[in-house]
Amino acid sequence: MRSKKQFAVIGLGRFGGSICHALMKEKMEVLAIDQDKEKVEEFASIVTKAVVADSTDEKALKKIGIQNFDHVIVAIGDNILASILTTIILDDLGVEKITVKAQNHYHEKVLNRIGADSVVHPERDIGVRVAHQVVSESVLEYLEVSDKYSIVEMVAGAKMVGKTIVELDFRATYGCNILAVKREEDVYVSPSPDLVMKEKDILIIIGADDDIGRLENHWMD
Ligand code: ATP
Repeated sequence: MRSKKQFAVIGLGRFGGSICHALMKEKMEVLAIDQDKEKVEEFASIVTKAVVADSTDEKALKKIGIQNFDHVIVAIGDNILASILTTIILDDLGVEKITVKAQNHYHEKVLNRIGADSVVHPERDIGVRVAHQVVSESVLEYLEVSDKYSIVEMVAGAKMVGKTIVELDFRATYGCNILAVKREEDVYVSPSPDLVMKEKDILIIIGADDDIGRLENHWMD
C-alpha cells in the first residue's frame, strides 16, 4: 500500500509548481517553500501549507522542520549556487530523500556529488523524448531506462495486425519484451502469447535502443 508521505517543494516556478499540483492530486501532504511572497500566496490555497523562506538559510529551514519531511524536492532553476547550497544544507540536516532539478550537465554532476539522492534534468529529458517521437511516427512515448535501454509506446503497424504475440516473436528476434498492449480502454499487462494484434493497438515495449530500432524498421510502416 502507498502511504501518505510528507513532501516539501522548494522553488515554485513552473517545474516546482507542477510538482505541487501533481502531489496534491496524489493526495500527499505538501509544504511549498519560496522566497518570493507572491508565489507563496499563489500556492497557499493549493498545497497543505506554504511558507516564505530563503532555502540557503539553514536556520530558516531548521525552524520549518525540513528534516522531518520524507522527501524534499529542490526546484530552484536559474540560481545554481542557491540550488547547490540548499542541497548541502538539506543533506547536513539529515533529510531522508532529496531530489534536485539540474539546470545543466555540470550542475547535475555537482549535485550527484554533494548528497542529492536523485537528480532530474527535465529540459534534457523532454528534449530526448521529443526527438524520439519526431524521428519515428509510430513512437508515442519514450522512456529512457538507461544509456542503452528504453521503454517505448508505439502503435501497431499494419503488418502486425492479425498476428499473435508469439508470431511477432519480438523476444527471440530482437530481445525485446512486450510489457503491455493498450486496446481502447483496456490494458493487457503481460499479454498472453495468444493475443492477436488489432488495428490501433498500442504496444509498450522494453528493449535495447538498437533492437527497438530494428524491430521498428521491420514491423512498423
Ligand atoms: P521553472 O523553469 O521551473 O519555471 P524558473 O526558471 O522560474 O523555474 P527560478 O526562477 O530560478 O526558476 O526558480 C524557481 C523558484 O525558486 C522561483 O519562484 C524563486 O523565487 C525560487 N527560489 C530561488 N532561489 C530560492 C531560494 N534560495 N529560496 C527559496 N526559493 C528560491
